[in-house]
Amino acid sequence: MEQTAKNLANVKASLPDHVCLVAVSKTYSPVQIMPAYHAGQRDFGENKVQELTEKAAQMPNDIRWHLIGHLQRNKVKYIAPFVHLIHSVDSFKLLQEIDKRAAQNNRSIPCLLQIHIAEEDTKFGLSFDECEAMIADENFAQLNHVVVRGLMGMATFTDNVAQVKREFQSLKSFFDKLREKFNPRPNWQPETLSMGMSGDYQTALACGSNMVRVGSAIFGERHYH
Ligand SMILES: *Cc1c(COP(=O)(O)O)cnc(C)c1O
Repeated sequence: MEQTAKNLANVKASLPDHVCLVAVSKTYSPVQIMPAYHAGQRDFGENKVQELTEKAAQMPNDIRWHLIGHLQRNKVKYIAPFVHLIHSVDSFKLLQEIDKRAAQNNRSIPCLLQIHIAEEDTKFGLSFDECEAMIADENFAQLNHVVVRGLMGMATFTDNVAQVKREFQSLKSFFDKLREKFNPRPNWQPETLSMGMSGDYQTALACGSNMVRVGSAIFGERHYH
């Protein structure tokens, strides 16, 4: 078997059935990504709008594209027609813009709220309090072209497994708390907890993740350009 297909099979074999695998294809070319597609992978994640739209145009259109990186409001319009899930909503203003562009495209866009759980302050995301306040706000209730499907978080980049575990556990507890506090409604359907990457997805799964975003463990070491 070709190496990418082999890696993909290994990663999938290590995931329980209810866990969704997003293959993170950022920095890899369509030629490098297609073996995963041919092996049956359909969920792919990109962290930049331009790279996502370029690949979407060149690749089969049954791919479900996930935007996992920081999203600027002025770029929402480029992905609004087709994006499958936006993992990185970190402000109400961004959510409002997504709602507006979704309406223009006669669709509803599934989103996750990104929560800041890492120690590093370079990572984007809402605090627990900001997130809770956003969902409780009457302005959130007005949005009818977005569906918030859950939360996303990234742990600190460290070898300290205990720390990573603590951070993932804190996000899982917060997710459970929100699910108890806010009943489901059309724009609040919390089912997805996106946490875990190549280096820490096993820890994330143990902490209750049901969506992992895995790149280098499938496509090989990444060369930034
Ligand atoms: C790059 C990236 C990943 C995947 O990282 P790997 O270590 O290659 O698995 C996951 N999530 C986000 C937000 C990323 O930017």
